[in-house]
Amino acid sequence: MATGAPILAGLRERAEASDRADPLASLRDEFLFPQGPGGDVAYLCGNSLGLQPRATRAALLDELDDWQRLGVEGHFHARNPWYSCHEPLAAPLARLLGASPHEVAAMGSLTSTLHALLISFYRPSGRRAKIAVEEAAFPSDRYALASHLRLHGRDPDEALVVLRPRPGEASLRTEDVVETLRRHGDELALVMLGAVHYYTGQLHDMATITAAGRALGACVGWDLAHAAGNVELQLHDWDVDFAVGCSYKYLNAGPGSVGIAFVHDRHAMSPDLPRLAGWWGNDPASRFAMPEAFQPARGAVGWQQSNAPVFAMAPLRVSLELFDRATMPALRKKSLALTDLLAEGVQRLFDEHQGVGELLTPSDPQARGAQLSLRLGGRADGLARALQAAGVVADLRRPDVIRVAPAPLYCRFADVTRVLQVVADFFAADRR
Ligand SMILES: *Cc1c(COP(=O)(O)O)cnc(C)c1O
Repeated sequence: MATGAPILAGLRERAEASDRADPLASLRDEFLFPQGPGGDVAYLCGNSLGLQPRATRAALLDELDDWQRLGVEGHFHARNPWYSCHEPLAAPLARLLGASPHEVAAMGSLTSTLHALLISFYRPSGRRAKIAVEEAAFPSDRYALASHLRLHGRDPDEALVVLRPRPGEASLRTEDVVETLRRHGDELALVMLGAVHYYTGQLHDMATITAAGRALGACVGWDLAHAAGNVELQLHDWDVDFAVGCSYKYLNAGPGSVGIAFVHDRHAMSPDLPRLAGWWGNDPASRFAMPEAFQPARGAVGWQQSNAPVFAMAPLRVSLELFDRATMPALRKKSLALTDLLAEGVQRLFDEHQGVGELLTPSDPQARGAQLSLRLGGRADGLARALQAAGVVADLRRPDVIRVAPAPLYCRFADVTRVLQVVADFFAADRR
């Protein structure tokens, strides 16, 4: 390596050896890369928007052709009949989430699905009305939760239990979360957190927090926006009540693509649970008999409202086939190695150039997914420009954080050393 060589010694060799030995290496060829100076960019932004799989274009053109050829007949006679196009997605989604196929559904968008599930799972009564949420939760989640509190005549300033890191720390400690939940005990109606925090990259101990919330009699829901396709999940076994996710970050289904719902068995099979009903959530056996009274389908599909957005389902189908080829355990293994390499390099650079920045993401690999968040103070804008000029795509989160996420489906270890080289050169130039 050029200027950063002494600091980064050994890392490039390690990266080359890891790339040669990578059993998932060929999956990279299934993706299309934006072009930068010098060809394919190093794309470390899959936490924000995943790359386009090569097969997506043909899958979308097939749907357009079927629509052209068949018109309304495509509902039943398209190659992937539109009427039931959500059904084949359930099994591969379930494998990603650690669920049974009937516990998951691709539907709506993340936020609209969150609203649909909050109607069913935030049902305050008497003293039990509070919602536990992270400080600096993703704004959409925070808005959604506050709006449900208001719908129930509660004041968000009083009814939100805000979980904060200790002074001087960036991440929540599980024991502090559990302690806070216990303090609110029988006043707690819902615990709703991001499984992987979008800003810090912290992966929560979902099993422990879910168990703690449920033991207090609260419902526990998770936002999987940054977790689905990133970390291994066991939503069913962890007894999670419900979860929502999106498919355009690590799942590579394209901008604004369809959302994901998980509803645990013990609720999903219960037709009596109140919900915002729509005809696509009705039992398919009677849907076209157009019954007056809503008869919910069993399973998470009972929360569907509208017929499926076919042009969003097709890219998700393509993407899930790639996840099935790779499998989540193998992806997580590679992801841990990629992020470990990145963390080691970044730490060396921070040690060498004292005071230039710090890692916000927990150092424990079990407490993070693919993403590392670098807090850089006044240097964030400059480094963001340097990365862009070098053909590296990461993202700047104002005021001063750069998120770098080597997604294991299409990132190489060499992409990580490419980022490290840019950062090393930038810090070296900055010091001169
Ligand atoms: C990306 C993200 C969203 C996005 O919500 P949409 O409804 O898909 O626009 C919501 N919550 C979190 C935590 C996210 O990271």
